[in-house]
Amino acid sequence: MAKPAIFTIDDDPMVLNAIERDLRKRYGQDYRIVSVNQGQAALNFLKQMSQRNETVALFLVDQRMPQMSGTEFLAQARPIFSEAKRLLLTAYADTQAAIDSINQVGLDYYLMKPWDPPEERLYPVLDEMLADWKAHARLPYEGIRVAGTLWSMQSHEVKDFLARHQIPYQWLDIESNPMAHQLVTEVNQGDVVIPTVFFPDGSVMTQPTLRDLAEKAGLQTRAERPFYDLVIIGAGPAGLAAAVYAGSEGLRTLVLERQAPGGQASRSPRIENYLGFPTGISGDDLARRAVTQARRFNTEILSAQEAQQISIQHSYRIVHLADESEISCYAVLLATGATFHLLKMPGAAALNGAGVYYGAAYTEATYYQGKDVIVVGGANSAGQAAIYLSRFASKVTVLMRGPEPTASKYLVDELRENEKIELLLDTDLIEVKGQDRLEEVIVRNNQNNEIRSLRAAALFVFIGVEPQSKLVAGLAKCDEKGYVLTGVDLLVDGKRPEGWPLERDPYLLETSVPGIFAAGDVRYGTSHRVASAVGEGAIAVALIRQYLRSL
Ligand SMILES: Cc1cc2nc3c(=O)[nH]c(=O)nc-3n(C[C@H](O)[C@H](O)[C@H](O)COP(=O)(O)OP(=O)(O)OC[C@H]3O[C@@H](n4cnc5c(N)ncnc54)[C@H](O)[C@@H]3O)c2cc1C
Repeated sequence: MAKPAIFTIDDDPMVLNAIERDLRKRYGQDYRIVSVNQGQAALNFLKQMSQRNETVALFLVDQRMPQMSGTEFLAQARPIFSEAKRLLLTAYADTQAAIDSINQVGLDYYLMKPWDPPEERLYPVLDEMLADWKAHARLPYEGIRVAGTLWSMQSHEVKDFLARHQIPYQWLDIESNPMAHQLVTEVNQGDVVIPTVFFPDGSVMTQPTLRDLAEKAGLQTRAERPFYDLVIIGAGPAGLAAAVYAGSEGLRTLVLERQAPGGQASRSPRIENYLGFPTGISGDDLARRAVTQARRFNTEILSAQEAQQISIQHSYRIVHLADESEISCYAVLLATGATFHLLKMPGAAALNGAGVYYGAAYTEATYYQGKDVIVVGGANSAGQAAIYLSRFASKVTVLMRGPEPTASKYLVDELRENEKIELLLDTDLIEVKGQDRLEEVIVRNNQNNEIRSLRAAALFVFIGVEPQSKLVAGLAKCDEKGYVLTGVDLLVDGKRPEGWPLERDPYLLETSVPGIFAAGDVRYGTSHRVASAVGEGAIAVALIRQYLRSL
């Protein structure tokens, strides 16, 4: 951590040198001594220090400076480093000015020049002030800081991305924290541009893409080789399981993930039905362990890299990425899973990220402390979210279209026992309202058509799952909803799919294109469970090895 600074300003170079020398001698080991000879330059420097998240323990400022008096400087410096101690260096004639500044700028002390000998006239005063500062100072957070508002979708995405990579960050809400607001406007020429991300090395990014953020945070975003045996697209449970098995079998394997490893499972605060974890495991924890395990077997995992298309050249499969680069391989595993599609009812699109979140209870929950929130959906994902949110929110209302929850029994029991949770069954969400953030939702009972309005600070959506198969549209056969067909599901009346070039049937998890396999939630017939995705990922690798042997 950077040392806290003792900041001194005097326009007289002789005096400045003398004070710098005396400060360095006594405090140089524990404090950084910054000396500047002019008020405005000092203010500019202070702003840079604040952006770098450095801290000032003490200002030692000359009162009589030509462009800006010491009192004027301290008045402007105060909001930037409000906790720093303030000492004014005065001449005899300035005594009244110093007394006035005690109230004006919260002056802690004034000292008449000259201060010789420092051991008697300077150090005892400063020792006391610094001891006082140390006892009360809140030292600055040293990691990445994200400044934004709760109502900004891009701020939410940045927080989510960092959280899912287990990169710690400090959230600065510019609406409730004036210092954060000032920091943002200072680096954006007076404008409020969010999210603004401050890095410990002093650099700043405004509205970064996930790709830029990943690179800056030191995540791997580029493949090390041009060619792999296997490229796995998607790092959810299916992709990560395949990554572990493929790596352990010695296949040169690359995983492409457009966001962060973990997939939908990382939205789950507690997965309780996955083998081997009797007290449950969070999706993030599971993903973190899987990533470590896969990397141990030399599998490369790229973050913030989206695959957009796959093309075929003889026995090679070419994966085209969103950044227009390409990666060649022998086999591809589609493990792109599914996602919640956006609500179409009035008001929903405008409030996306401004109180309306899709499958995001984990990241946002703490911000809704003491507020009323709504969860939409009746399956396990919605049930888990409601239970997790009830730890923070004052009330959680769960809207379900059907007469009964479809979640597993253990979750339904927990939902019913929780006093903060209300289940509204047979209920459709019909409208979402709010000026620049969610304020109210309108629901209808689909049995008696009764319409109700519910006040809510946030709406967490867990309905409308959609397979992520766009990148193979027109290449591999899918059902009408977009789920990718594999193995026996491709055979119609025992006949192989049209255009199938081989003298064998497609393998169990092989798509209608030889060498392209699918596993997990993107695949037709899967059971939308972590364990199934993991199992399919592992089986796919066995089949891929069989395929590779035939080349
Ligand atoms: C909130 C929640 C709670 C859940 N709780 C449980 C539970 O308790 N127990 C249980 O068994 N199941 C649970 N599930 C279901 C379970 O998480 C899923 O069945 C499982 O994650 C599916 O795994 P997958 O690897 O097939 O796909 P996903 O988990 O969907 O992962 C797919 C990955 O592919 C990436 N991707 C997609 N397209 C591309 C592309 N073009 N390029 C690069 N990457 C791409 C995505 O970003 C994603 O990371 C829950 C789901 C949710 C949403």
